[in-house]
Amino acid sequence: MNKQTFLKWAERNAKRIGVKKAQVLRAFEQEMTSPADPDAPFEIPDTMHINMRYSYGGQSRFFREILENRRILGARCTTCSKVFCPPRTHCPHCYAKTEWVELNGTGRVLSYTTVYFATSSAIKNVPYIVAYIRLDGADTAILSNVEMKDVRTAHVGMAVQVKFRKQRDGRITDIYFKEAS
Ligand SMILES: [Zn+2]
Repeated sequence: MNKQTFLKWAERNAKRIGVKKAQVLRAFEQEMTSPADPDAPFEIPDTMHINMRYSYGGQSRFFREILENRRILGARCTTCSKVFCPPRTHCPHCYAKTEWVELNGTGRVLSYTTVYFATSSAIKNVPYIVAYIRLDGADTAILSNVEMKDVRTAHVGMAVQVKFRKQRDGRITDIYFKEAS
């Protein structure tokens, strides 16, 4: 492709994917204007936007209670009485249906790791603790963050308390934990 055609191509494609023309010029100049091996991988600029609905299915009530009522629910097996949190619609041991029970939001750390490297959405929080927490009244553990002033004081068996973010979106990140006082 000659320089002139390349400039037009870059302008058209920058508009198509919604970026600046300079970015397309920089990223594709060599590929589009230099003689290349005709069998070399051919790459073009493209974009992908996905908007979707995500269904929580049988776990919906758990998320709705966090969002609207700042409550943590577990699911209790109607046969063996084991309490699952995160909830399950059916017990994995006896396959019986579960029923909702309210938990008070206190628990203990079963296992944890300290995160020093994170993706962009969480980078401002490092270092932070990600822990498996068994809530009082539950038989299983839930994975969540524990926010602490000094992550070096984290330990297995640490008593923690659920916290609800002021701005909640119906996501599991609407909750986090703090060391219980
Ligand atoms: Zn059961």
